[in-house]
Amino acid sequence: MKILVVNAGSSSLKYQLIDMDTEGVLAKGGCERIGLAGSLLKAKGNGQEKVYEQDIPDHKVAIELVLRALQDEGIGVIAHMDEISAVGHRVVASGEYFKHSVLVNEEALKTLEEKTFELAPLHNPAAATGLRACMQVMPKTPMVLVFDTSFHQTMPPEAYLYGIAYEDYKAYGVRRYGAHGTSHKFVSQEAAKYLGREGDENFKVVTCHLGNGSSISAVKGGKCMDTSMGFTPLAGVMMGTRSGDVDPSAVEFLARKKGMSHAEIVTYLNKKCGVAGISGVSSDFRDLIAGANAGNERCALALDMFAYQCKKFVGSYAAAMGGVDCIVFTAGVGENTPSVRADICDGLEFLGVRLDKDKNAARGDSPVREISRADSAVKVLVIPTNEELVIARETLALVG
Ligand code: ADP
Repeated sequence: MKILVVNAGSSSLKYQLIDMDTEGVLAKGGCERIGLAGSLLKAKGNGQEKVYEQDIPDHKVAIELVLRALQDEGIGVIAHMDEISAVGHRVVASGEYFKHSVLVNEEALKTLEEKTFELAPLHNPAAATGLRACMQVMPKTPMVLVFDTSFHQTMPPEAYLYGIAYEDYKAYGVRRYGAHGTSHKFVSQEAAKYLGREGDENFKVVTCHLGNGSSISAVKGGKCMDTSMGFTPLAGVMMGTRSGDVDPSAVEFLARKKGMSHAEIVTYLNKKCGVAGISGVSSDFRDLIAGANAGNERCALALDMFAYQCKKFVGSYAAAMGGVDCIVFTAGVGENTPSVRADICDGLEFLGVRLDKDKNAARGDSPVREISRADSAVKVLVIPTNEELVIARETLALVG
């Protein structure tokens, strides 16, 4: 069975076609600059790449072009559109409306469009546009919505509620929703498989998705118990350009001093802060490490702050779960930056963490890399994330 995974942005549409028998990627690519001058599709398949430079006025034309590329004489991997059994759509925010992935019907579409847009005003409308385009072009193919937030819907109220008036939570849905849920789900499941703990209700993992955006989750028995991002992805640890947690009164104070509106200060906290704001150099951890190695103190400070904040989340989630069996690192920084992993684990020996310096420093592309010592009570793993595969698996589970 072949499943198409679609990730639609306001001017982009990325896709992967996955063979569910092998879970291998048959083809992938993305349309860029939809509705703008210079639009194009970069598509890969059969070990080749092809760039389609053509006018892509809207998402419907984009999906038509993707289907053409999938059936192309050179890079094509299917003979007919009917070979695609279902389409899984990535959706950023579910609010409390979708606790699981859903098969698209009138009701799901209505809820997506009428209830969730205000929770992710840039992303959810784009996903709905991509979905409607696919429904038009592939009217007989089942469509599934897979939400970044639904893995976090198992959090108990003490973890997801803020200390604001309960009536306001009820009236406005202001609470912790988290993000990167498909990634936390994937790596926690892979960790359980690797350690032979699948189905073990007492298996406690802290998953660290560290990339340009970063979030950390507590996962017990396969269920998310807590996560560092909040109502939006601005919360938790500091990130590439996002501040992470800041006292709301400091935000109001800063806005007044800088003469910024509410919207402007939120944009500032999303785009001008984090390790980029502290270092004054870059949001990219490779630049920060090069800077710190060359003696730039603010690059070193940004790295120290990041590791310290991550370490605090790992420790607090161990407390929340009554222990920790495994720590997983994933995403751009988590998978590729040994010094960040070492800095986060340094000082966690009291929890039973013993990092193996050589294994941590070694590169490799195996699906799971164990970087803790054999005598470490807490297993430390590096697992490359695969959000598209989770979307495909969820889609398969719903269309069977
Ligand atoms: P996003 O949140 O945008 O998906 P990524 O998960 O791709 O971000 O992570 C981007 C970060 O990962 C950057 O800070 C970058 O420095 C780091 N990164 C990505 N690839 C590598 C690599 N090969 N070596 C070191 N760092 C990397």
